[in-house]
Amino acid sequence: MAFEGLSERLQSTIQQIKGKGKVTEADIKAMMREVRLALLEADVNFKVVKQFTQTVKERALGADVMESLTPGQQVIKIVQEELTHIMGDEQTKINMSQKPPTVVMMVGLQGAGKTTTAGKLALNMRKKHNKKPLLIAGDIYRPAAINQLKTVGKQIDIPVFSLGDQVSPVEIAKQGLQHAKEEHLDFVIIDTAGRLHIDGDLMEELSNIKELVNPDEIMLVVDAMTGQDAVNVAESFNDQLDITGVTLTKLDGDTRGGAALSIRAVTEKPIKFIGMSEKMDGLEPFHPERMASRILG
Ligand code: GDP
Repeated sequence: MAFEGLSERLQSTIQQIKGKGKVTEADIKAMMREVRLALLEADVNFKVVKQFTQTVKERALGADVMESLTPGQQVIKIVQEELTHIMGDEQTKINMSQKPPTVVMMVGLQGAGKTTTAGKLALNMRKKHNKKPLLIAGDIYRPAAINQLKTVGKQIDIPVFSLGDQVSPVEIAKQGLQHAKEEHLDFVIIDTAGRLHIDGDLMEELSNIKELVNPDEIMLVVDAMTGQDAVNVAESFNDQLDITGVTLTKLDGDTRGGAALSIRAVTEKPIKFIGMSEKMDGLEPFHPERMASRILG
């Protein structure tokens, strides 16, 4: 289960302060030391941890908390609020175009779950928003990528536009978009190439596609299992492409959770969805408050 270690540690720390009728400054300091260690161990970005612990400490040491009848409960509420805050407070929805079709560009490193998430998103948009999606196969470099997208499309009965692997991704995107307009398909998802590492060629190609299609959403797909690396990847893609949203995949796995807690604070871009299984129905909107509740149990 994701967040297991973090949850356990935070819960046991919190348990100690919960029922206290009187909380001292030393209690708060001791608790925050534990919280800090728990977050660092869960691979949360150290700057985020620092900011978080400082804010919680300041608020918890405030007179209104210390002098309240239930200081322990108040402190827990502050931890919960600030955890929610670093994850972005409110749920952020996917950007929709006023004028159809909405265009989403999927970007990310190879293996992050881009192709899978493209399919999941298409299914989600049809089911929940009554959209008519089109998947565009723009990853021409990985030999199996086009077939993989076609298989996904077949599985969920969503059309896939492909021009094979001999036409440039920019041209594929252009023609795919034209095709969507002609067929009155109102939600276009472009699968793009990933690499094992970030490189200049990849970013340039993505920039070119971005310039041409002017997407409503540049959705970065990152693997939660990679922890701090996921955050670094998000920073790089955001610097180069000015992404608009993040999908964090593989949260059903045994991840320590650091990426979920750091990405928003580091990039200032919201996590919009989380991947909770390999299956096509395994995509969920990301709710910061629910996630904080889940972590604190
Ligand atoms: P791409 O290279 O970025 O297009 O990645 P793929 O879509 O091919 O996904 C790589 C692997 O991760 C595949 O085996 C997927 O089934 C798996 N995967 C993707 N998203 C999730 C998720 O949310 N949970 C789990 N458990 N596996 C996922």
